[in-house]
Order: sequence, then structure tokens, then C-alpha cells
Amino acid sequence: MPSAIVIGAGVFGASVADRLARDSWEVTLVDRLEPGHPRSESGGETRLIRCSHGRDAFYTRSARRAWALWRELGEGVLVEPGVVWFARTDNGWEADSERVLREAAIPVERLEPGDARPFFPSLAVDDLAFVLHEPEAGVLKASEAVRALVRRAREAGARLSREAAQPAGSAVALAGRREEADAVVWACGAWLARLFPQLVDLRVTFQQLSLFEAPLEWDGPGWVDFDAATYGHARIEPFGFKAASDLDGPDIDPEERPLEAGESAVAAGRRYLAHRFPDLAGAPVKSAPGCHYSSTADGQFIFAPHPEHERTWLLGGGSGHGFKHGPAMAEHVAAVLAGRAEPEPRFALGRRAAARSLRTAGFGADRD
Ligand SMILES: Cc1cc2nc3c(=O)[nH]c(=O)nc-3n(C[C@H](O)[C@H](O)[C@H](O)COP(=O)(O)OP(=O)(O)OC[C@H]3O[C@@H](n4cnc5c(N)ncnc54)[C@H](O)[C@@H]3O)c2cc1C
Repeated sequence: MPSAIVIGAGVFGASVADRLARDSWEVTLVDRLEPGHPRSESGGETRLIRCSHGRDAFYTRSARRAWALWRELGEGVLVEPGVVWFARTDNGWEADSERVLREAAIPVERLEPGDARPFFPSLAVDDLAFVLHEPEAGVLKASEAVRALVRRAREAGARLSREAAQPAGSAVALAGRREEADAVVWACGAWLARLFPQLVDLRVTFQQLSLFEAPLEWDGPGWVDFDAATYGHARIEPFGFKAASDLDGPDIDPEERPLEAGESAVAAGRRYLAHRFPDLAGAPVKSAPGCHYSSTADGQFIFAPHPEHERTWLLGGGSGHGFKHGPAMAEHVAAVLAGRAEPEPRFALGRRAAARSLRTAGFGADRD
């Protein structure tokens, strides 16, 4: 039986541990925090799962595969009320997404702005060209999803160890001992760049969001206003109605960043509600968490072998859009570790050319 040590029980590490354990690997999953902890990038309330990625067919397919795998996991972590995209122009990210979704046979519909009104009790559409509806998209309950992955990994035989790890050549240095395995996967989120500073370059930014109290009739889909770099979801209990900016926040130390958002972020969320969902403008705040993105220059993830230790692998660079892809990434990782596939070139180490992000944050930067 091949063995693996996976360091980091965020969505990437937990997905890999789960996949490998179910493929009959002997797996040890190490994290210094509890899985789903709000200090990790995968902690907290919710993440959107959508297949639209503008012109990018690779992440479109990956999100669709991941969606099927999240469904298989069950446990109520995937909620599927759909996602609506508020398109401000006819020829932007949403139009590109629609074309790629249709080519991939992923359900999608283009609506006149007024036809999107039934999704929300109050919706302003004056500034919209159309609305793109992904009926099979939705929302993942983030911390719960990570814990469900870890639970299934443990049921398949993985051992969870709550401690800090350091690289020691091709081995893993743990409190008072060293461990080795056939494969060692460092899936340490923002901390990957600290553990491997010569190999990994990540920009870590502070991201803030707000969740508002909303009455029952506000149950509904996820939503994205790409050209306003704002996204969220209608009421999903117990979290409420989410509104967040997807602009890069200020650089931050992931160890020190606040777990709460500041007042100005909440005020910005409320301003967006007043604009798009007017009846919610005065809704009470339910919670206002802070989190961080760990981003590569081109928004592509990282999965690559260590150049000096062939059994050591680096996994991360979620770049603010990694959550949904976790189980699909894990399938790729497992295929590579088992020798059934080559590592995807776009995930390679090395200098990355700056490129527009694959998040829900657009300002027409990729229009041509
Ligand atoms: C506000 C916000 C909104 C987002 N929205 C979306 C969205 O809508 N859709 C989407 O798909 N994605 C979204 N993302 C992105 C997504 O959450 C991340 O890409 C993903 O969670 C990254 O996971 P990870 O496993 O790489 O990192 P993490 O979750 O940070 O996991 C890394 C783990 O490694 C552990 N660790 C680090 N160093 C060590 C060590 N030395 N020893 C032991 N353990 C260690 C840490 O404790 C941590 O638990 C969002 C992110 C944020 C912050």
C-alpha cells in the first residue's frame, strides 16, 4: 500500500487526503489547526460554486467535475439554488462564459434583465444588459465541507494529526520526529510561500465580507456582479444574505489578519444592497468575517513536484477561486501520484506572467 503525508487540511489538502485514502493509500493528514478553522483560507461560512469562467474552458470543466464530486460527498454541504450573473454589457465575461458553458453542455440560460426579478423580492436591473443563469450552480458551506471531507478521509482510514510541520529534505519534521512517505504533499495555503520561499510566490491579501439578516422570502441563488467586482448569495441559513467585494484587499500576514471585517467593508456591502437589492438596504448585519486570498500572479493554481525531492509535491495558490475545485484538483493530484497522469503544465512552479484573475472581479480588463 503506497503511503502519503498531506500537510494542510484546507480544501485542497483535505480533498487530496480523502481521495488518496479512498484509493487505498495509507494517509496521514497534518494540520496545526482544526479543519475548517477561520484562520485558514477554507474556513468560514460559504463559497460560490459556478462553472462560468469567461473564456477559460479548463476551469469551466474542472468546476463542473468538482460539482459532481461535491454532490457525491453529500452531507448537505452543497446548496444548489443556482447562480445569476448581472451582465452590464453584451460582450463581456458573461457572454464569453455562456459560449463556453454551451460548448461544454453545461446548463445555462440568458434572461432579459426583467425576467430575473422573480429570483429576489426586490432587484434593480436598470443598469443590466442581460442576466446569465446557471441553474446547477450554487453555494458550498465552507467549514462544513472541509470537515465532511476530513471525516470521509478518516472513515477511509486516513489518520489526522494536529501539529505543525516543517520540510526536512524529502521528509516531514514534526514535534520531536521525522516522517517519510512515498508522497509528501504540502497543501499549506498562504503558508506555502513561507515554507518554500525560493519556489513559491504568493500575494496574501485581506478580504472582508458581510452577511445580513434577511426574511424567509429572500431564499434564492448566488449572484455575481462581475463588472462591479461584487458577489454574494441570497439567504442561506444559518448564514444569511452575503455581499462581498472581490477586489484585492491590502497585503496582510495570514498569521495576524483580523478574523473580523472592518466597518468600511460592511458599509460598502450595504451600499451595494441599496443599489441592487433595495429592500435589504436597512437589513441588520448578522456577521462580518475577514479572510485572506493567497494568489499567484496569473490566478492559476500550483501543483508541482519539488525540483530537488521528487516525492515532495507543492499544492496551493487558490487565488481566491480555489474552493469549488478542491475535489477535482484532488482527482488530478491522485492520478499524478499514481503515475496515471502528468502534472498539468499550468500548475507548474516558476515565474508566472501577470494575468487577469479568474475570480468574480472584473473591470473589463480582459475585453478586447
Ligand atoms: C473571502 C473569501 C471568499 C472566497 N470565495 C470563494 C468562492 O466563492 N469560490 C471559490 O471557489 N473559492 C473562493 N475562495 C477561495 C478559496 O477559499 C481558497 O482558494 C481555498 O480555500 C484555499 O484552500 P487551501 O487548502 O489552499 O488553503 P487553507 O484553507 O488555508 O489550508 C491550508 C492549511 O494548511 C495549514 N498549515 C499551514 N502551514 C502549516 C504547517 N507548517 N504545519 C501544519 N499545517 C499547516 C493551515 O493551518 C491551513 O489549515 C474564497 C476565499 C476567501 C478568503
